[in-house]
Amino acid sequence: MTRLPEGRVLTDPDVIDSYARDRTFLEPGKALGVVLAASREDVVTTLRWASENRVPVVPRGAGTGLAGGATAGDGAVVLSLARMTAIRELSPADEFAVVEPGVITADLDRAAREHGLMYAPDPSSYEISTIGGNLATNAGGLRCVKYGVTRDSVLGLEVVLADGRVLETGRRTVKGVTGYDLTGLFVGSEGTLGVITAATVRLRRAPQAPPATFAAEFGSLRDAAAAVSAIIAAGCQPSLMELLDRATLKAIDDWRNIGLEDTTSAMLIGQSDVADGQAVAERMQELCEANGASFVAVSSTPEETEDLIGIRRMAYQAKERLGACLVEDVCVPRSVLPDMISAVEAAAARHEVQICTVAHAGDGNLHPVFIFERGLAEPPPNVWAAADEVFREALKLGGTLTGEHGVGLLKKRWLALESGPVSEELQHGIKAVFDPLGILNPGKAI
Ligand SMILES: Cc1cc2nc3c(=O)[nH]c(=O)nc-3n(C[C@H](O)[C@H](O)[C@H](O)COP(=O)(O)OP(=O)(O)OC[C@H]3O[C@@H](n4cnc5c(N)ncnc54)[C@H](O)[C@@H]3O)c2cc1C
Repeated sequence: MTRLPEGRVLTDPDVIDSYARDRTFLEPGKALGVVLAASREDVVTTLRWASENRVPVVPRGAGTGLAGGATAGDGAVVLSLARMTAIRELSPADEFAVVEPGVITADLDRAAREHGLMYAPDPSSYEISTIGGNLATNAGGLRCVKYGVTRDSVLGLEVVLADGRVLETGRRTVKGVTGYDLTGLFVGSEGTLGVITAATVRLRRAPQAPPATFAAEFGSLRDAAAAVSAIIAAGCQPSLMELLDRATLKAIDDWRNIGLEDTTSAMLIGQSDVADGQAVAERMQELCEANGASFVAVSSTPEETEDLIGIRRMAYQAKERLGACLVEDVCVPRSVLPDMISAVEAAAARHEVQICTVAHAGDGNLHPVFIFERGLAEPPPNVWAAADEVFREALKLGGTLTGEHGVGLLKKRWLALESGPVSEELQHGIKAVFDPLGILNPGKAI
């Protein structure tokens, strides 16, 4: 590591420990050190050294991951990309930007807005997560119901491979089909195939007017889920559709006093950002009422809208105040969202576990958060049993184990249920092509 410029390597054990964990309860091992890469050359130098010395490398953005993807094991080097924060290029004419991996997601969106554009993927963590982490997990977010997930906004990547070679994938054009889609392969690969050092991302025209927003309250979570299915089936094409259950609303209310009514079991927040958004929001309001909403309001000012979205963005921090959290991320076809909601409620009751659920409901993507006692090394058996039931039910309904957080370490025990042996064999084969020594984020994702 003497080949890196001075100041790039951290060796203080307490500091290493803080870089070796993400936002899960998982305890890291004893990592060797942290490299604070400031350039692509630093990444190349680190990976060449790691290959020569057979040292595992754990790439890291901001450490906001919820699957243990950035958790470092014994003897690993954490490679932090958080200092690579340049927006190298922003082209309004071609509607793309070339960015380094440490750029904070919301900063890229703000830079695009100065040109009447936006960067669409907006995980709830967009003020704290990095583009590199978003790419490596194929992050979703609130606007994904209309604009797609991170993969839908990537045109090309610059990646440093395990042996230090630099690979350019993809393109700067709107279209292009030369060769296999290596860009798509790296997106969602959780740092196991290479380290992303730059990305060419697609920008879109920002909506001209603030979106029209509604909030609906329901006496039953299942009714709220049925309203979502009805809104999607009616072709309303919302630009945001988020669902919060009572336990989540209560946690937020206890923290920030949002005036929660005793009769409210669920809240649905939706938006339309089309030119006649108000009419679409009113149509969505009608569909909520037809599906049992006890109260629906269409917001009349941008401030009211910000307050509603703010409630949604507070959900995770509010739940962290209740205890340790196992955050899950199942995704199902949207027409069966009510069945998935019922399955989560049944698992909570059967195993006597507190589960707070928020959902990117327009995508059929649920985050049941299993609360357990702080200080335990891992969730107790009843929590694992409830999680197991939720995963199996999601797969039975035609869904997937993870919509946006990735497999990391946390979902590996269920992976075979979804992938099957043929897919697993091919995925390990791909890993061996890119990383024959197995030094990149070993033990994660596959
Ligand atoms: C409050 C809160 C809300 C959240 N909301 C959402 C949400 O709405 N949608 C969503 O999808 N996620 C959400 N998340 C999860 C998390 O923010 C995302 O997974 C995010 O993409 C992680 O970004 P990061 O920079 O923190 O990456 P990290 O946690 O540091 O890393 C995540 C993974 O990416 C790999 N990695 C990081 N950088 C690189 C790189 N440059 N090259 C190769 N691999 C790399 C790591 O090895 C790891 O496997 C939320 C988390 C929190 C705490």
